[in-house]
Amino acid sequence: MNAQPKTQNPSPNTHSFSADVSRLLDIVAHALYTNHDVFLRELISNAADACDRLRYDAIEKPELTADNPNFRIHVYKDIETRSLTVVDNGIGMGKAELIDHLGTIAKSGTAALMEKMKGESDPLKLIGQFGVGFYAAYMVADFVTVISRKAGSKSIWVWESDGASGFNVRKATKDEESKLDGDRGTAIVLNIKDDGAEFLIDEKIKQTIETYSDHIDFKIFLSTPEETEKGEGQPINKAGAIWTHSKNDVTKEQYDEFYKHITHGFDEPLMTSHWRAEGKIEFSALMFIPTLRPWDLYDPSRKNAVRLYVRRVFISDNIEGLTYPWLRFVRGVIDSEDLPLNISRESLQYNPIIARIRTAVTKHILSDLDKLSREDSIGFNTFWGQFGPAIKEGLYDAAEHREAIFKICRFYSTHDNGEKYTSLDDYVERMGPKENGDQKEIYYISGENIQALKNSPQIEGFRAKGIEVLFLTDTIDDFWLQTADEYKGKKFKSVTKGDIDLGDKKDEGKTEETSNKHKDLLENLKSLLKDDVSDVRVSKRLTDSPVCLVAPDDGIDMHMERVLKIHQKYAGSSKPVLEINSAHPLIQKLESLDAQSDSFKDVGYLLFDQAKIIQGQPVKDPGAFARRMAEFIGKGL
Ligand code: ADP
Ligand code: MG
Repeated sequence: MNAQPKTQNPSPNTHSFSADVSRLLDIVAHALYTNHDVFLRELISNAADACDRLRYDAIEKPELTADNPNFRIHVYKDIETRSLTVVDNGIGMGKAELIDHLGTIAKSGTAALMEKMKGESDPLKLIGQFGVGFYAAYMVADFVTVISRKAGSKSIWVWESDGASGFNVRKATKDEESKLDGDRGTAIVLNIKDDGAEFLIDEKIKQTIETYSDHIDFKIFLSTPEETEKGEGQPINKAGAIWTHSKNDVTKEQYDEFYKHITHGFDEPLMTSHWRAEGKIEFSALMFIPTLRPWDLYDPSRKNAVRLYVRRVFISDNIEGLTYPWLRFVRGVIDSEDLPLNISRESLQYNPIIARIRTAVTKHILSDLDKLSREDSIGFNTFWGQFGPAIKEGLYDAAEHREAIFKICRFYSTHDNGEKYTSLDDYVERMGPKENGDQKEIYYISGENIQALKNSPQIEGFRAKGIEVLFLTDTIDDFWLQTADEYKGKKFKSVTKGDIDLGDKKDEGKTEETSNKHKDLLENLKSLLKDDVSDVRVSKRLTDSPVCLVAPDDGIDMHMERVLKIHQKYAGSSKPVLEINSAHPLIQKLESLDAQSDSFKDVGYLLFDQAKIIQGQPVKDPGAFARRMAEFIGKGL
């Protein structure tokens, strides 16, 4: 048995690495993980993927596994050549695949890492957050030889590289061919560097596999395939699909490792749900919610990444419709007992069983999240901060789950001065009977950020009367509100739109009276601002500020209108209503001015512009605004 020491690399490199790979390799070699062990996890994970893929292909073409229908992985050291070899009898790679898959970065996680590193002064600290896949081998090796034979093919190709200058692809030697396990698969030979020497010790290899790869569904041997054939090797892992075990037999560490295996992630799952559905449809599910938000959560092309198995055979991690787009951050495995095995991946998405699994899985996850919110509010709030905006897409996307989604939705509100999350149930409970009549609606104000919303004049009256207002700051809020407009029979109502009933029975009729009293002022302002406002009226919602803008009764909420325009979902444009606070000294002063005077006009325009600025909108004529402002400041001084 002779591995290829690096000095025996006679052939010049035939290929260069893509720029990304070179950069990555440079970092891998010079960094890095406090924890070198993970390279073995990456290689075993690739070996297992290769077995999974061939197991699927062999359903239609059993001849592909004629040499040995069982899949297995071997990991063994050779002290003499200081090498560690990982062998699988999975699908293998042809020449083109060796070049494509091991010469460029395809894997999304690694691509994400490269993207992030561009603007990073200290890229080393980033690397621990991402898996680097195959290239992790160079953490412990200074030369790597990949010998591979694609299942069903006769030729055996070799990819070799020192991980620095490029790589070489050539035909295998007889000695290299003998490293493969049967007529297919891949053998990866690592020439171990000095500081990786611990991986030439069986006990270390064994421990590492037990830590990281115990859950792998294929037997892993610490011997050569030949030795195993002679009956000398014993598998060192349990080799059972972890999701088929009963919950009581799986430890948290095993769940966490499995999570890392399927996500290539370095975080830990925030929530793990493992269950078996029995009855009309049967499946096992092991689902995880990550702690860290994936970098591409809002990338529209992001695919769901739940792995579908059918009776233990891996089918695909990209079945459309298996989970909802708004649960696209959920990772895990679904193993169906009902789906046919001999069906193409493409037609699976139309299978009604997929839709039924989706419904059942969604219900389960939402109910587990609800449970989490009660049992671990800190954990739940972390979750909500990361994934709340995505979940809220479900409010319009999946009406059948709306109630359950609302149940876990959290919002900031005036109740805790925008500092703590509240649930809608808590809000509704606090609505209670009010001194001046019952509150019938759930009030909200939407805008860009909490701070601005907290200072909005439109909520002054609500605050004064102790009526709670939700602060909605996610763009998505303005979308779901259009469809999901009530919770438990209570309508959502924007406090910046239309006339508002603050429940003051004794005030009834009073407004009309007040309006009559200020009729002239209202008329004068209306004619001054006729191009910009649809109406001017006396406000019921202002207590401290002189004016504010609101959307007309039949109009669309102002912030919603802006968001929809940005997203090109709305083309109209509506004039707001200007509300005035008749008790405010400034308004009273204004009332005493001659409506034809310049002072009246200047103050009128200034108040209107101010209202727009508070609303986060640009003023129509900034030059004129500044001039009027300067004039008044001058007078004040
Ligand atoms: P990932 O596993 O996330 O795709 P890797 O860097 O680990 O990224 O591997 C890159 C690609 O190389 C794999 O997607 C696969 O196509 C190929 N590959 C790596 N190891 C093997 C193997 N043992 N057998 C077959 N293909 C492999
Ligand atoms: Mg991999």
